[in-house]
Amino acid sequence: MEMKKEVKRRLEWSVSVSEKAKLTVNPIRNVVETLKLQPNPDKQFIPLSIGDPTIFGNLNPCEETINGLIESVKSAKNNGYFAAAGCEEARNAVAEYCSVIGAQVEAKDVILTSGCSHALDLCMTVLTNPGANILVPRPGFSLYETLSALIDVEIRHYELLPERNWEIDLNDLEDKIDCKTAAIVYNNPSNPCGSVFSKKHILDFLVIAEKYFVPIIADEIYEDLVFPGNHFHPIASLTTEIPVLSCGGTTKKFLIPGWRMGWILIHDRHSRFGYEIRHGLNALAQRLVGPNSVTQGALPYILKNTPKSFFDSTIEFLHINATLAYDVLSQVPGLRPIMPSGAMYIMVSVDMIYFPEFASDLELVERLVSEESVFCLPGKCFQYPGYVRIVLSVPTDLLKEALNRIDYFCRNHFVRSNGIDGYDNGFN
Ligand SMILES: *Cc1c(COP(=O)(O)O)cnc(C)c1O
Repeated sequence: MEMKKEVKRRLEWSVSVSEKAKLTVNPIRNVVETLKLQPNPDKQFIPLSIGDPTIFGNLNPCEETINGLIESVKSAKNNGYFAAAGCEEARNAVAEYCSVIGAQVEAKDVILTSGCSHALDLCMTVLTNPGANILVPRPGFSLYETLSALIDVEIRHYELLPERNWEIDLNDLEDKIDCKTAAIVYNNPSNPCGSVFSKKHILDFLVIAEKYFVPIIADEIYEDLVFPGNHFHPIASLTTEIPVLSCGGTTKKFLIPGWRMGWILIHDRHSRFGYEIRHGLNALAQRLVGPNSVTQGALPYILKNTPKSFFDSTIEFLHINATLAYDVLSQVPGLRPIMPSGAMYIMVSVDMIYFPEFASDLELVERLVSEESVFCLPGKCFQYPGYVRIVLSVPTDLLKEALNRIDYFCRNHFVRSNGIDGYDNGFN
């Protein structure tokens, strides 16, 4: 006779949150929530903190982008489920749009995702098991840490060098690699630095990845949003040896972050990812059943018809703001901006020696809000204390006003440090 097993059952409600959910944090939110942010009621609040270029209403998608979406809706062809990796036409369009000499891709090499964030998530997940490590840049985009919790992977930082326009410290990178390093996350152009790597620097970086057989996850979401005189080199076009997963999308270049359209390009050198990684990416894509079908339907039209002049005018605007911010902040005592070469941000070093009134750079950021109603993200959000990041996508007049207030604030609180004769404006 079968014994009836005693089953333990709950006697009351006890719904608990998973350990993985608890560990999943957004470093930016974590830092910002600890700050006391009370703007001065007499001054308009100017947030130079939010990395969404659309919030001020001055940067909008072009007509072609908008029409592409309208036509996609009207066609009534894009209301159903598409393949999890994206529909064939849209993947074809991305392959064509992204193929460059030395880095050709076809539709089968493209996975469409819900924004570049989702692309990064799939890439980090497909390449790691618990216990592996992934190398990410410092300062760097905080999403990489956020994504690491769910997959139980160790995040290791490699340093970028401010005095070399944020090039990678290749010695440090090499020190951090071991046999459990599943991938190097590489970000060019950079958020938060606004740096754009030279071809030579990328080649030097590739030597290290090749030496230790480490695949690359390339976050190239800003691609050719670079200022005149700079050139964006897709990393996959500079190596024939290293397998690369390149993550991109329409978010930044087309000024439609909310449309959530991203992609992964699989550049599989000598079949080193092989069938398994491809299959794994397709399998993982099924978790969300692919990105929004209406945007997919619009993608071929958008990629084909957006005029070059649209990108040129975005770049011109960002370059004007970058130059303005750099010029003004270079003259502010205690600050040291680093001129960006692309993307939408400028990093500014804050030399706390000259601001003894504040216990830390976080306190300085708080006081800038309470006195001048200007909010810059503290470098701590990017694992990089001693700096602040300023967003350059705000309207130029507003930026000018914010820079004047920062200037006034710093002059007000600046104290010439004992034993230092005169103020030396650093390495710029
Ligand atoms: C904005 C950004 C992303 C995320 O883009 P989405 O398409 O909105 O998910 C990824 N990487 C970097 C460096 C970014 O700045």
